Amino acid sequence: MDIQDNITQLRNDITATCDQYDRNVNTVRLMAVSKKQADDRIDAALATGHRLYGENRVQEAQKRWTDRRKDYDDLELHLIGPLQTNKVKEAITLFDCIQTLDRPKLAKALSAEMDKQGKFIPCMIQVNTGEEDQKSGILPVEFPDFLALCQNEYGMTISGLMCIPPFDEPPTMHFALLQKMAATHGLRELSMGMSSDYAKAIPFGATLVRVGSAFFGARPAES
Ligand SMILES: *Cc1c(COP(=O)(O)O)cnc(C)c1O
Repeated sequence: MDIQDNITQLRNDITATCDQYDRNVNTVRLMAVSKKQADDRIDAALATGHRLYGENRVQEAQKRWTDRRKDYDDLELHLIGPLQTNKVKEAITLFDCIQTLDRPKLAKALSAEMDKQGKFIPCMIQVNTGEEDQKSGILPVEFPDFLALCQNEYGMTISGLMCIPPFDEPPTMHFALLQKMAATHGLRELSMGMSSDYAKAIPFGATLVRVGSAFFGARPAES
């Protein structure tokens, strides 16, 4: 499978969906989720000119991107997986956005590290819209206070919200909830939708869709 073909197909689909729902296609960004992909796939994606990537593990991302990103001024790399407080230093050094801010302790650690490095990057708050025990993300009921803490107490730039809907439920009610929360609190970015459901996230205002397998082809089996 050729990556350029995948990108063309994804872009055509995103454009058609935006047309259908009366959205400007320039307001929906396509993120390539590069976790677990082989080096030659990453390099092939970079060769097409694609510059927005997401990774879900700090250490894996460091290996893949620390050297590579030196060659691309316009590369934009987001963390989309859970972040432990003992990895915030590496995360702030490497990433341009943390999409998975979800608890006070992490907000404190991130803001302290940004001060220390003098590198202030935007974060998105991950919301556990399905209120699943095992899933990261702040609970919807705790969100307003948490947002206020991040913005007022820690002076962080919160650019928007991110969610991963439960696997066994239709995603649209979760996309709708995230959209409503963002609108209520004046947040612009909505990171939602993956390979299987990005087209469903667009009518609910997604500004960034996170696409892995439909972009690169299937990931090697989970280990
Ligand atoms: C892996 C991953 C994706 C992409 O998943 P696909 O189904 O391959 O598109 C998107 N978001 C997050 C948070 C992920 O971990």
